[in-house]
This record gives sequence, C-alpha cells and structure tokens, in this order.
Amino acid sequence: MKRKITILAGLLLITSVVWFLVLAQKSGQILETIFLDVGQGDSILIKTPQNQSILIDGGPNNKVLEKLGKYIFSIPKKIDVVILTHPHADHVTGLIEVLKRYSVGLVVINGAYLKTDNYNQFVSAVKNNGARVLIAQVGEAIHFSKDLEFDIIAAPGSDSGVTNDNDANETSIVGKLIYKDFSMMFMGDAPATIENKILVYGDGLKSDIIKVGHHGSKYSSFINFLSAVAPKAGIIEVAEKNIYNLPSPAALSRFAFLGINVFETGERGDIRILSDGFTTNIFTER
Ligand SMILES: [Zn+2]
Repeated sequence: MKRKITILAGLLLITSVVWFLVLAQKSGQILETIFLDVGQGDSILIKTPQNQSILIDGGPNNKVLEKLGKYIFSIPKKIDVVILTHPHADHVTGLIEVLKRYSVGLVVINGAYLKTDNYNQFVSAVKNNGARVLIAQVGEAIHFSKDLEFDIIAAPGSDSGVTNDNDANETSIVGKLIYKDFSMMFMGDAPATIENKILVYGDGLKSDIIKVGHHGSKYSSFINFLSAVAPKAGIIEVAEKNIYNLPSPAALSRFAFLGINVFETGERGDIRILSDGFTTNIFTER
C-alpha cells in the first residue's frame, strides 16, 4: 500500500483524515509518537496501539514529568520500556525522577558508562525501580506486537565500558521503529561517524520520519546519510533559544537541499505523529 503523510500545524486539525485517525485510535490501530518539548534535550513518548508506552530519553530536567502527566493515564503509573540513548545530561536527567515515580518494565541502555552524578543517580534509580535491564546490541529487536518492533541499528554493545564527555555521542543507540508500512528512525546524538558506519544497511535505513541526530548539529545529518534514510520529515528536539545555537544552519541547509520538512520542538511545542501504519499525520502544538 502506498504511504501518505500529511503535515498539519497548529489549528488546522479538523479534516476528514484527522477524524479517521481519531476513530481508528479508539479501535486500537494507532501508533502515537510525541516529541516532548522539554527544553534543550531529547524526550520522546511512544504509545502503541496495544496501549504500551515507550519513553526514549528524559530530557535535561523534570519537565518530562509534567508532559507524561498529560499523555499517560494509566493508574498505577507505568511505562513499559525506557530507552536511554546515551548517558549525556540532556538525555538522562529527566529519567531519574521518572524511574522514581513510574513502574518500568524494561530499561534499555547502551552499556557505556559516563562518570557523572546524573548518570550515577540514573543507575541507582534503575536499581531501586526493579526494572529489567537490557544492554542494546546491534541486530536485536524489541517486539511490541506482530507488526510493531524497535530494531537496534547502532549501539556500542556490552563491552563499550567507560566513555567520556567527548565520545559519548558516538555511543548513542540508533533505532528504527517499524509499524506495518510506517517507520521512524531515532538517531540519539549520533555523529557522522556512526551515520557512515550504518550506511551498510542500505534500503533498511529508509524511514518516513527521522528524529534528527544531535539536535541538528552540523556534525550529524550529512547528505549521504539523509539520502539513504529518505525521510519525509525530520524532527529536531531543541530549546527555542539555546546557547549552542542549535539547530545549525549547516544541518538545516542539508534538509532544505533534499526537500525534507523540519519541525523543531522549541518552535512548535510538543510534536505528535499519528500513524495507522499506512497514513501518517504530524500535529504541532504551535
Ligand atoms: Zn543531546
């Protein structure tokens, strides 16, 4: 079946396509992905058609708690899978309080240890939570249902050991979420060295949406890699005015060159993507 992606912003929500999706959501066919506007960092909540929840990273502070309160209604509070792409503060910090307040089924980590207070607190919070822990290995997949899976495309593996602030981005878990005919690539903060390494996947990289690597920095999202993924849209998690001046004009120009729409959380607020596996809509808060 041919895939169709409609991009809607702000108040332009009332269309027949949207109503179709809302009805389908009630009957349990919709995959919902919300790129949470948590400031300068990544946090993405995925709600599966079977009502499972996946949280990829927790952002730089506790803003994620407020966001989860808005989107997760289960009592007692639970998240099925938490994935930490890599141990930098703008990805791990929010997860500490999440792990204290939510019962978590599985925590997926990349196996790289970063010697910071935040990461140590995360490790203790995982232990106290009692969640199972999985160190991501390339080639593995987490299956959520017969037609929904998260494939690990890049990860350093269990022997990655101690990392440092400079190298931690390279340890990012890169994963591809596949639901029927729809797919989304999550890059963490992976730089071009990782992009080049995973080019061997060829057509296996093709994805409808890409969570842009490293907040749109110039060290990620090179033309050869973006051409291989060939997404219809890219989502960048950034604070509107950040001291790093992200996203970088260099990266944005590569998306523009390839005609890929880019959405930033800082500008748009929470960005929600709904898909029934064939038809996909993007909704933005602003
Ligand atoms: Zn980051």
